[in-house]
Amino acid sequence: MHQLTLAEIARGLADKKFSSEELTKTLLARIAQLDPQLNSFISLTEDLALQQAKAADARRANGESGALLGAPIAHKDLFCTQGIRTSCGSKMLDNFKAPYDATVVAKLAAAGAVTLGKTNMDEFAMGSANESSYYGAVKNPWNLEHVPGGSSGGSAAAVAARLLPAATGTDTGGSIRQPAALTNLTGLKPTYGRVSRWGMIAYASSLDQGGPLARTAEDCAILLQGMAGFDPQDSTSIDEPVPDYSASLNGSLQGLRIGVPKEYFSAGLDPRIAELIHNSVKELEKLGAVVKEISLPNMQHAIPAYYVIAPAEASSNLSRFDGVRFGYRCEDPKNLEDLYKRSRGEGFGAEVQRRIMVGAYALSAGYYDAYYLKAQKIRRLIKNDFMAAFNEVDIILGPTTPNPAWKLGAKNSDPVAAYLEDVYTITANLAGLPGLSMPAGFVDGLPVGVQLLAPYFQEGRLLNVAHQYQLNTDWHTRTPTGF
Ligand code: GLN
Repeated sequence: MHQLTLAEIARGLADKKFSSEELTKTLLARIAQLDPQLNSFISLTEDLALQQAKAADARRANGESGALLGAPIAHKDLFCTQGIRTSCGSKMLDNFKAPYDATVVAKLAAAGAVTLGKTNMDEFAMGSANESSYYGAVKNPWNLEHVPGGSSGGSAAAVAARLLPAATGTDTGGSIRQPAALTNLTGLKPTYGRVSRWGMIAYASSLDQGGPLARTAEDCAILLQGMAGFDPQDSTSIDEPVPDYSASLNGSLQGLRIGVPKEYFSAGLDPRIAELIHNSVKELEKLGAVVKEISLPNMQHAIPAYYVIAPAEASSNLSRFDGVRFGYRCEDPKNLEDLYKRSRGEGFGAEVQRRIMVGAYALSAGYYDAYYLKAQKIRRLIKNDFMAAFNEVDIILGPTTPNPAWKLGAKNSDPVAAYLEDVYTITANLAGLPGLSMPAGFVDGLPVGVQLLAPYFQEGRLLNVAHQYQLNTDWHTRTPTGF
């Protein structure tokens, strides 16, 4: 039963082959048995899950249907869940029980999804290896000595190991697509504003976006359908109708114009990944797509701009965690200043403190123009590059990451080495565009992802291309040994 996709589960439940309660019990037992190797969950919500599963079974018995009715999922531990610990992977929020559900959580629950638990993540979503969590590193099911990617590494490892069919993630600079690539999943970062950020603990508000992680594009369509939509509680939510994503999967790719940026194949890219990317292009050509070389001339400025903007926003967002209003408070503070200093010093981990310092520096009076303002100008240039490219092509294709999953600890002494892994993903966040990563092969037994980018609100196009590719390839069906 654990091998079933969301789409197969929906059919099995509709055909009464099994109940949501049976499925939920099976998966909870599997998590108890296998997750100690992976550390992909921070909290399990067994009671809630069984209650939701029974309620979903009752709704089906009453004639209701729906692709998510009775489907087991998990939430990255930065989506607020009422009465349940929402830690953001941090000691700072270890004892925080959210007083309300995030919009995404509430929408998926209303659609009948069953929450098995809250998944591990990099502290405050800062990272690309899932090693900065207060709850310990997550392991990659494809090789337990390697990282699963981050920051949604818990969601990715759990889905890749068939502990459950799908999970939510968030993507500020790649945190859905990069762990999807490193664990052989399909992951989609929607257009900025497509999915509500209300109740999603903020890292960098102008970049953060929630989205689905699953094994197939078909399942991403199902989960995104439950997540997307206008939310008056989020001032950056966009009031655009949500199309039927599952209906968009079957379009023909005949004549689809694919742009491959020449800048993507520079020295930093593992040549074995480059070869797999070229193979995926050939596969899409067989399906009728036409390929064209394009240019994204400002791409080389993306990492420096992102690592000014994201920390700047983080330094502001994380100022609320001061030991008074929210979060951890140190023991026996001597005075107010001591309380602030020690609460934040003890509550935040090293990477979070590094980002807060970088951000506060970039925003300070003497440096604002030199760093923050300049980074915002680069952001506009990057967006303009994409707008020009999308005048010529329908979709942009390239690698999701320059390297496969690295060994645990390999980049710990050099944070910038980890930042460089975001080179292909962060441009979509800076421009607000939707992006998807899908399985494209293996290097040394480790998965490799191909990334597709599309114009604003063209999530359906991404899912269509990925689904057609998956109908003609079997990379996404491979299962890690031992799971
Ligand atoms: N690796 C990037 C960072 O550390 C992106 C993380 C994310 O998307 N949440 O900021």
